Amino acid sequence: MHPVLQHDFDTLGDILQQARDTAVSFIDSLPDRSTCPPLTAQQLKAGDDLLPEHGVGAEAALHDFWDKYAEGFSASAGPRYFGFVTGGGTPASIAADWLVSAIDQNTQLHFDSVSPAIELATISQLKQLLGLPADQCGSFVTGATMANVVSMAIARQWLGKQRGIDVAQQGLHALGPVRVLAAAAHSSSVKGLSMLGIGRDALENVATLPGSEAIDPQALEQALQRHPDAPTLVLASAGTVNTVAFDDLPTLLKLREKYNFWLHVDAAFGGVAAASEKFAHLLEGWQLADSITIDAHKWLNVPYDSAIQFTREAHLALQVEVFQNHSAYLEPPSVRPDNYLHLTPENSRRFRALPVWMALKAYGRAGLAEVVERNVELAALFARNIEEMQGFHLLAPVTLNVVCFALDDADSSTESVARRNRFLSRLDNAGVVRCTSTSLNGKPGMRAALVNWMTAEHDIELALASIKACRAER
Ligand SMILES: *Cc1c(COP(=O)(O)O)cnc(C)c1O
Repeated sequence: MHPVLQHDFDTLGDILQQARDTAVSFIDSLPDRSTCPPLTAQQLKAGDDLLPEHGVGAEAALHDFWDKYAEGFSASAGPRYFGFVTGGGTPASIAADWLVSAIDQNTQLHFDSVSPAIELATISQLKQLLGLPADQCGSFVTGATMANVVSMAIARQWLGKQRGIDVAQQGLHALGPVRVLAAAAHSSSVKGLSMLGIGRDALENVATLPGSEAIDPQALEQALQRHPDAPTLVLASAGTVNTVAFDDLPTLLKLREKYNFWLHVDAAFGGVAAASEKFAHLLEGWQLADSITIDAHKWLNVPYDSAIQFTREAHLALQVEVFQNHSAYLEPPSVRPDNYLHLTPENSRRFRALPVWMALKAYGRAGLAEVVERNVELAALFARNIEEMQGFHLLAPVTLNVVCFALDDADSSTESVARRNRFLSRLDNAGVVRCTSTSLNGKPGMRAALVNWMTAEHDIELALASIKACRAER
């Protein structure tokens, strides 16, 4: 063994202790750390880092890394990072994630180790948490983007099968164009359409209900009637990123009986609301969706990267048709919910279920529901204060955990967009709270998405004070 590697092997405990100390001090610093640190200096240093001929060993490497780059990490895992939809990591999920690296299992096939059984058990507990039926089969993927891709790949296979075509075998050209209907499809699904060869142009935007981002079921029915025989995929939203709109799934299910399309529900963060009895009704109907996307690294607060893709058991054979992996050195495909090699895009797979398993064990339904309910209450508090604050108004009523707001007299002009951008860069420089830009009904706006487990009332006060202070142009 190389002497430096041997030395590291001999001092593994010290190395992990050093990593532990660094991690603890980082997490302790989150409430005070900038939500948007200046990056230029660190980025330049990264560019200057050259491959060393002789390594320095893990302790010196860790030291060097933290010395150089600690300043360049934002408090995105902390309590006032409201940009995008960014979760943090609860203590149990962080500890589990470390163990995943140490145990380092390839969670592929049911007989390799106990890890696939734990993934299956985690999926089962998640179904209980979220009110999903036993006949939804799930597997872990890297994120909601990938869950959307896997779901649409199974949809494509199903649409082919309905017409006697095996898309996985023959290629999409054998089926021809797929129709994709949605009102507020997430950008990741549009990317997925490109990845899957269905094409971004296949997406037809259906009208929304007045003043909402939710799909207008009548408009959807009219679109379906125009080409009743076309292979059709409907992308429903259970929590849009701007206003957290939920499509009326029971009505969409009735339409599915009539028009025989594939119903995918993107519930990346909105689905986790079902952990709370107060909000489970928003998801009514998703139990019968053909496929579902849920992110774990957002509202379930496990470290990146983690999401779950669900498909009805009736479609599991189709999922295997798409993802089966034939090789002399691997077990041949069979239709079981824990042979993940044949169900997901990856060949080798991280034991990604453990952080979720650990969070469920550590905090239970009550603990995870409390995070959801607290975030929703704090979003309402934030919204009430924004409404009363001079210089701002809400762009949409706040229904759950996202506040979509704008500067007064925001309009579609470039000057208005520039004014919003200048405000956000003042807010970023202050570094107390991160909000990110959006546009709603043609108006430049901002979003505050609350999904972090740490966020408390005090954070809302600090965030509002910073927003107020950054309001005026200097
Ligand atoms: C975040 C999000 C995605 C994409 O998820 P990633 O985990 O970033 O890949 C898809 N859909 C919705 C509704 C989201 O909020």
